[in-house]
Amino acid sequence: MAGIYLHIPFCRRACYYCNFHFSTTLRQKDAMVKSLLQEMQLQQPYLQGQPVHTIYFGGGTPSLLPDADLQQLLEKLHQLFPVSDQAEITLEANPDDLQPEKLQALKAMGINRLSIGVQSFHETDLRWMNRAHNHQQALQCILDAQAAGFHNLSIDLIYGGPTLSDEGWAQNVRQAIDLQVPHLSCYALTVEPGTALDHFIRQHKVAPVNPDKAARHFEMLTGWLAAAGYEHYEISNFALPGYRSRHNSSYWQGQPYLGLGPSAHSFNGHSRQWNVANNSSYINAIQQGKVPFELENLTPDMMLNEYIMTALRTSEGCHLYLVEERFGADKRRRLETASREYILAGKMVNRNNTLVLTPEGKLFADGIAAALFV
Ligand code: SF4
Repeated sequence: MAGIYLHIPFCRRACYYCNFHFSTTLRQKDAMVKSLLQEMQLQQPYLQGQPVHTIYFGGGTPSLLPDADLQQLLEKLHQLFPVSDQAEITLEANPDDLQPEKLQALKAMGINRLSIGVQSFHETDLRWMNRAHNHQQALQCILDAQAAGFHNLSIDLIYGGPTLSDEGWAQNVRQAIDLQVPHLSCYALTVEPGTALDHFIRQHKVAPVNPDKAARHFEMLTGWLAAAGYEHYEISNFALPGYRSRHNSSYWQGQPYLGLGPSAHSFNGHSRQWNVANNSSYINAIQQGKVPFELENLTPDMMLNEYIMTALRTSEGCHLYLVEERFGADKRRRLETASREYILAGKMVNRNNTLVLTPEGKLFADGIAAALFV
């Protein structure tokens, strides 16, 4: 069972907080699509014929691509890989791209899940983030997507930002629940080095992000969504029953995946590789028949650390028997000893030989995981 990720590295404009790989000019769009098609051919052996259960168009903004390009990419994937009939095929989209005709076309070509970058239903927040869409589009695209038959729908929301009050956050989440959006990915606003936001804060043009506010918003969020019937199945992800992201879940379960496009990562169970994060370098190399990537072979300790990091972020937690089976009894004992401090502090519980973060511990998930690394 495997997944395929395609990175579409173009955006209409640069959101101030974003550190993904993208370009705001579409000059190389045609060459990029051609290169992606070529890379599929070059990388075909990577998954060793395993059935593909999920395809994910991410970015960047894949919804910027014309329908014919998306169709061509999908057709080629179907030609080269054993894509299952029930595959989950997700497209990340921005609200301003999702007109009714576009939605119809996406549906017709086989996209069966949308992940929409709504971020907020408030104009003040959207402007502050430099998003390309407005608050009307944030709402309308969901109604239009549902009318077009997209019931497997996810939206991204950002909390903790300086323009978002507690009441504003409550309205955003209530809006998503009222619209019956079955999957939410909610992220605390973080300041990544080198982003415009980082620059503005250093220049004192905007206030630094307040971690207490983000923690408060997270606690409010988990309470509201639990009451509305959503499963909190990963730190940032919430789903109504039956609507978990199969693609992202397969990352967290350590399934193999092939990443295509600049900056895309691939994983085959024992090594990880990532393509160059530069559009021109990527296109030039692919034109010469070479995939421009760096590779890292994973040692058992690296694999264990990855398991701890990803498993602790999920509601399934970190299975101690699995650690023992895959990495040895010593590693299990070491992990049990290191976790005691967090269990005593109420940040973690050991439930039937599985380490699971408590609601309080979820606020510190990455820090706790790092402290448990071997
Ligand atoms: S649309 Fe998405 S990928 Fe593009 S700049 Fe904004 S957050 Fe980043």
